[in-house]
Amino acid sequence: DPANAQAYRDALTKVRARLGETYPLIIGGERIHTEETLESLNPSNHAEVVGRTAKATVEHAEKALAVAWQAYESWKTWDMDARARILIRAAALLRRRKHEFSALMSLEAGKNWAEADADTAEAIDFLEYYARQSMKYALPGETADFPGEENRLHYIPLGVGVSISPWNFPLAIFAGMLAAPIVVGNTVIAKPAEDTGVIAAWFAELLEEAGLPAGVLTFLPGLGEEVGDYLVRHPQTRFVTFTGSRQVGLLINQHAATHQKGQKWIKRAVLEMGGKDALIVDETADLDEAAQAAVQSAFGFAGQKCSAMSRLIVVDAVYDALVEKVVARTETLTVGPGEENANVTPLVNQESFEKVSRYLEIGRQEGKLRAGGSADGSKGYFVQPTVFVDVDPQARIAQEEIFGPVVAVIRARDFDHALQIANGTEYGLTGGVFSKDRARLEKARREFEVGNLYLNRKITGALVGVQPFGGYNMSGTDSKAGGPDYLTNFLQLKTVTERF
Ligand code: NAD
Repeated sequence: DPANAQAYRDALTKVRARLGETYPLIIGGERIHTEETLESLNPSNHAEVVGRTAKATVEHAEKALAVAWQAYESWKTWDMDARARILIRAAALLRRRKHEFSALMSLEAGKNWAEADADTAEAIDFLEYYARQSMKYALPGETADFPGEENRLHYIPLGVGVSISPWNFPLAIFAGMLAAPIVVGNTVIAKPAEDTGVIAAWFAELLEEAGLPAGVLTFLPGLGEEVGDYLVRHPQTRFVTFTGSRQVGLLINQHAATHQKGQKWIKRAVLEMGGKDALIVDETADLDEAAQAAVQSAFGFAGQKCSAMSRLIVVDAVYDALVEKVVARTETLTVGPGEENANVTPLVNQESFEKVSRYLEIGRQEGKLRAGGSADGSKGYFVQPTVFVDVDPQARIAQEEIFGPVVAVIRARDFDHALQIANGTEYGLTGGVFSKDRARLEKARREFEVGNLYLNRKITGALVGVQPFGGYNMSGTDSKAGGPDYLTNFLQLKTVTERF
């Protein structure tokens, strides 16, 4: 849409005028600059400094906890609707500035316009949805009454929690993971991802502008293994909400239960982790639709989505035909900077680029290269969209989350075999099936072990309020972000029975 494109270009110019700023920590409304900083580089050229954030130490984390507990004392007494109104105002502010936020995201995370827009739109949806959902917990819930006895469920916040977020949805996930606990009366220390601190800082400022009282949100950029881990282990942290890798999720799960200073406390850990998402295509499927869906799901944001399809499992009868179609479509994709709206954008940083480059080597040994296969990090972290075929289901590229534009195509004898292969990883986040066979679709409904299943459509889609999102097994605790019960992750229930 040309009007949108023009608005986006204008926003890009506006955002570029602010590049290179340094954003402080925000603790109890106070701005704190630190000597050391974290730098965000534009991954499309790794030359442009998008901005810097302060880098918190454990002393800052300690102070943040004290301030957050103090703020909690008053925040928990607010009426639910007064808290919800702040999120609604924040959503309105964000809607007004959506192009600016999306343009910043293109520069900081490398997203193209559509991907950045979707991320910003999801953040707005989370704010409004959690505001609305919170009203379910504004009054005590009724259970059953007996003569002379009344039973009520009271919904009570947990206290102070920490929210630790990834760079790949630097606005939507950051916003959603703090808005949900906050609206129901908790106070939150938000530790954004190291690579995308600038957009997180913008959002923290926007919440202040929307009227969020000082101390309810602490903005605490810093290193995960330093301040993140410190807060996770801290006995004064009552809950941890995390989205990120399997490896770090497992650590957090363990560290949330082992405290510093010998103090013990049970902590809630809401964990959303990675995936090795499979799409099954059988001989009854519409192959053009399936190929289109596969390519979109695999290469959107260069495969850097937990929901990205990375295993294409095809039954023997249509294997060669589908591979041809997938390869042909893959070869039409453009590779380039997010801000120039390329189809396949760069990987987020050097580390990620090196990791994915290693998997390209592994893939050459484990499968047959049919498309892409090369990486060029000289001007930006670019990797060609890559298709390996004839991959063994147990191969590393078919088992490990690569988090780049790399697909492993696996041959199956028939649908049942395909489903068995699909379930053969330790993950269980998203999955998809293209088939016109009703019985098989029903079987997938029952037996495909994933948190989000897509039948005869593109894998991915986590529309807030419509497709609650979250996975099983090593993919996480299946919290279902954007779902009707998500807020209960941040509430404790008290059953009150009164006899008259
Ligand atoms: P990551 O695990 O490397 O980092 C996530 C966050 O954890 C960052 O803020 C980081 O600083 C922090 N962290 C790192 N070590 C820590 C420690 N020891 N203690 C506490 N915090 C620590 O993940 P990433 O690279 O930012 O994100 C990509 C990953 O996220 C992928 O695996 C992807 O699948 C997953 N993801 C999952 C979902 C989902 O909904 N299931 C959504 C988006 C991304």
